[in-house]
Amino acid sequence: MCGRRARRRNGRAAEKRKAGSVTMDLHDKEILPGEILPVVVIGNGPSGICLSYLLSGYAPYLSPGAWHPNPLLHAKLREQPQRSLLDQDLEYLCEGLEGRSSNPVAVLFDSLLLPDSDFGLEHSSPLEWRYEPERAVPHLVLGKGPPGGAWHAMEGSMLTLSLANWMELPGLKLKDWMRDKRRNVRNDRATPAEIASYYEHYVSQMGLEQNFACGTTVTAVTRQPGGRDGAPPCWRVTGLQRREGEALGVTL
Ligand SMILES: Cc1cc2nc3c(=O)[nH]c(=O)nc-3n(C[C@H](O)[C@H](O)[C@H](O)COP(=O)(O)OP(=O)(O)OC[C@H]3O[C@@H](n4cnc5c(N)ncnc54)[C@H](O)[C@@H]3O)c2cc1C
Repeated sequence: MCGRRARRRNGRAAEKRKAGSVTMDLHDKEILPGEILPVVVIGNGPSGICLSYLLSGYAPYLSPGAWHPNPLLHAKLREQPQRSLLDQDLEYLCEGLEGRSSNPVAVLFDSLLLPDSDFGLEHSSPLEWRYEPERAVPHLVLGKGPPGGAWHAMEGSMLTLSLANWMELPGLKLKDWMRDKRRNVRNDRATPAEIASYYEHYVSQMGLEQNFACGTTVTAVTRQPGGRDGAPPCWRVTGLQRREGEALGVTL
């Protein structure tokens, strides 16, 4: 991340640079000036949360003795049960799968998390998630509101169109969370407010909070050329962070 930053309070621009500053004005985040983060995710909805889970070092493996209802995929998964799927040939695993997305990896992911759920069936996932900190990639997830994205903006009392467990993220069963909260899943549907609350809980339960800068709106992303000193090219992400009623400008 680049060390330059611009700060704006109450709409009045006040350029401020600190050559030796150790932290940036992202609330609760310590980012060294000049440090380049390998990944910045813009948007803290379910996609950003799930990506953060993977980038934090959680890796999917075939559970011992697990079974997948698709015989072809099952046979492929059995070929290298000791290797994480992250290290396998995803194109090969995706071949022949059909689903609701045009992205083959998304179809594979859905099929592994909730096999045959499109047919209303409830097979358990053949995956187990192992925490392998050596896989972790430093990253930051930026989002305008709390973790959960669009689910916070919906009318909270209606019921989801999809079965509630379709909104589930790896490693935390939505039904288990609902049971712990003493909430009932009605006709296998939940309210957007419940889903939003599940996503917020997920981020804290999985220990992802330090990677989230909420209340942050990205206003520009620009390509920075590499430096003469051999520094690699990077993207400069500029935005505003809202905090306790004030708006701050930050440049990452
Ligand atoms: C009314 C409604 C009902 C739905 N019902 C269902 C359902 O029943 N089942 C189902 O599967 N799906 C449903 N969906 C779709 C579901 O909400 C989305 O598929 C899902 O939220 C997409 O997740 P995402 O993480 O990709 O994006 P989002 O959830 O949209 O999250 C992206 C976040 O990024 C933020 N953002 C955008 N630009 C910036 C920026 N410049 N800087 C910082 N943050 C930014 C946005 O504010 C948002 O919070 C419904 C959607 C709506 C609107």
